Amino acid sequence: MQLLEERIRKDGKVYDGDILKVDGFLNHRIDVGFVCELGKEFHRLFGGCGVNKILTVEASGIGIACLTAQYFGCPVVFAKKSRTSNQDAEVWSAAAHSYTHGTDHTVIVSKEYLGKDDKVLILDDFLANGCAAQALLDICGQAGAEVAGIGIVIEKAYQNGGKALRAKGIRVESLARVASMNLRDGITFC
Ligand code: 5GP
Repeated sequence: MQLLEERIRKDGKVYDGDILKVDGFLNHRIDVGFVCELGKEFHRLFGGCGVNKILTVEASGIGIACLTAQYFGCPVVFAKKSRTSNQDAEVWSAAAHSYTHGTDHTVIVSKEYLGKDDKVLILDDFLANGCAAQALLDICGQAGAEVAGIGIVIEKAYQNGGKALRAKGIRVESLARVASMNLRDGITFC
């Protein structure tokens, strides 16, 4: 998506450890009008799929998911992060590794809010190795919910997540795909 690539070039900052910071417009300070344009694009891509729920993970996915959900007219459910493995009978839970913090945790969703009648669009800000997306897929599987696809704002295409998910036959749509990035040369898109 041209608009997004331009914004990443203008405001994105590359950090050591393969981290792209876009927190000036996407996940710390949120440019609401801009993120709504991303939401419209997700709706153009997945609007005909019968999605009745958007699923993301706290915290950085929530703003994007909510602004997108207004075009789908559906609720957002966000998986909560828990530091301990969760044995609660009331929740679906899956293990996840945090790319940015390097820690392992569990993500949980109340059984009340996700079930077999749902058709889910999974959304997140970044796709790197695919752990977050995999945990959300796992939760949908436990719930018996159907997954329409995965929408990602920025995929780092040189990492393995996208390839592995697509190899499983999952529809993954990324609004910007980074081919490479480093401190010296900056960012190139696919
Ligand atoms: P994955 O689970 O696919 O390895 O990583 C995706 C998750 O890690 C996303 O939820 C995102 O919050 C975080 N993440 C991965 N790479 C980056 C990055 O380059 N910048 C930022 N800000 N977050 C990232």
